[in-house]
Amino acid sequence: MPRLYLSGNEAIAYGLIQAGVRFITGYPGTPSSEIIPTFQKIIKNKGLKAFAEWSVNEKVAYEVAYGASLAEIKTAVTMKQVGLNVAMDPFMNSAYVGTNSAMVLVSVDDPGPHSSQTEQDSRFFAVAAKIPILDPSTVQEAYDFAKRAVELSRKYGIPVMLRGTTRVSHGRADVELKGNFVNEPLKAQFKILKDWDKKLWRYAATPRQRLMLHAALNEKIAEIERTNELRFFFKGDILIISSGAVFSYLYELIEEYGLQNKLTLAKVDMPYPLKKFDFSGYSRVIAIEESMPVLELQLCTEGRRNGIVPKQGELTPEVCEEILGRIGLIKRGKTITVPPLKRPSLCPGCAHRIALYAVKKVFGKKAIYAGDIGCYTLALNFGVTDTVLCMGASVSFGFGFKKAFQLAGTEQDVVSIIGDSTFFHTGIPPLIDAVHYRVPFLTIILDNKTVAMTGNQKTLSDEVSSSGEPVTPIIIENVVKGIGINFVQTVDPYDFDVSVKVLKDAKKFLKERNEVAVIVFRHLCVNTKEGLSANPRYNVAVVKELCKGCKLCLTEFECPAIVFKEEDVKAEIDHTICVGCGCCVHICPTKAIRLI
Ligand code: SF4
Ligand code: SF4
Repeated sequence: MPRLYLSGNEAIAYGLIQAGVRFITGYPGTPSSEIIPTFQKIIKNKGLKAFAEWSVNEKVAYEVAYGASLAEIKTAVTMKQVGLNVAMDPFMNSAYVGTNSAMVLVSVDDPGPHSSQTEQDSRFFAVAAKIPILDPSTVQEAYDFAKRAVELSRKYGIPVMLRGTTRVSHGRADVELKGNFVNEPLKAQFKILKDWDKKLWRYAATPRQRLMLHAALNEKIAEIERTNELRFFFKGDILIISSGAVFSYLYELIEEYGLQNKLTLAKVDMPYPLKKFDFSGYSRVIAIEESMPVLELQLCTEGRRNGIVPKQGELTPEVCEEILGRIGLIKRGKTITVPPLKRPSLCPGCAHRIALYAVKKVFGKKAIYAGDIGCYTLALNFGVTDTVLCMGASVSFGFGFKKAFQLAGTEQDVVSIIGDSTFFHTGIPPLIDAVHYRVPFLTIILDNKTVAMTGNQKTLSDEVSSSGEPVTPIIIENVVKGIGINFVQTVDPYDFDVSVKVLKDAKKFLKERNEVAVIVFRHLCVNTKEGLSANPRYNVAVVKELCKGCKLCLTEFECPAIVFKEEDVKAEIDHTICVGCGCCVHICPTKAIRLI
């Protein structure tokens, strides 16, 4: 059998394809983003006929893939755990209606969290929806379980969740592939007229019929539950039940500390639906799992609720070691203190920085800056982001803040800041509301023509899709004008003086017209090949004699290529990372930063 060195996400893509999935959608989000690009690469290399593209958001991705699965094409949809919040409506309902072929939801969790707003556990959502979950512990299992999820879904006619976590999805290992890449002819069918009347009720069910579907779902779940066996390792008096990456850490620790005769380790491949097991032969039964007590609540064990397992944070091998110490099995492991990391900041030359610097210059420090999910969140480092909640909330917050201050009769400037991809994702509906209710705040759309934070995926304004197909670009300005916004201006933020003028015009418009205004700041991301090659490249330097050592270029602008020499009390440019954009010449009050 061929072996490949793969990440967990790549392994999932291989598993899905070899199990016959030919339709995959998703929305990019770390740690799930690599599945679709890998899927695209494989189908291209193997000449397979399939559809693999990003969607505008997770709800749409789920519904598109689910629709295709009803037409009997095997499908999958990918997202990160917070994306599942957006897709919850179709996710819950699809459990009732069921599938006609197979549908796998890959939801990747981020315990820690390393790059997310929450540590939520996708498994809880699947329990709420009554959808079976597979929870791989290794990269090999990511591949195996992807295939198993497709088969389970096909067999029982129910969507299945494959739950990843950062460590499994981003870990790498040698994976044994056990299948072929077969280009079987695809047959789509849905509305077969001869017995359509008998089937229609399921797809367009009334509330009474939903009750019947719920009963059918309960039967499926009971049947799957009967097949769900645990796997037992070692033979000891205390039983630890685990799943996911944590199982692997525990397995290694038991061997490392020679606990094989003290502990039994039970592996749960499918955390839901779990049948009841007889654990009466054990002195203690403890569930150790990330991130929430899904096994613990179903099996009524010890774990998080009695304080053995921490209630927040990633269960790293070191934390697992501490847990074994807390159980009294080992002398408690040393607590590892991680030295503080340098805080992340926007890239040298990033156009978001100079755009938001101009916004701050015109609207001042007292304005409320409602931020959103994207690289530009890092503008909080230099005071141009006050809130970040979830995708699209910058615009809703803009509405909420402005209306609150209006109600109270207080003047307050409010600026919402949102990226191009996030605008398409969930920024449009609150902007429609703001137009409808005439709420005068400024919405800044930072358009760098890419989903930069998650690996530079394409956006809806592209003319070519991520798999190279020609597509219709969606023009942000047309959308914004189409919903009735009367102030819509587009600026390249590198034209600093123009940016300042347009921002001042927007401020005047907000006061005079009492309506929402939009500015689109458009400049290619410098972290892409096209963006960097199109960017100006100046030679920039700090004239030492003019530098007064005020540090404004660091605190108010924070380009990583501007450093401060404490011994000279002067700023200087680090030419090893400076991209020569020249934006910093607008910052220095003494004009010490110059193009030379
Ligand atoms: S370069 Fe200008 S802004 Fe930076 S420390 Fe010197 S005087 Fe201040
Ligand atoms: S020119 Fe200035 S703003 Fe641009 S990357 Fe270099 S130091 Fe940073």
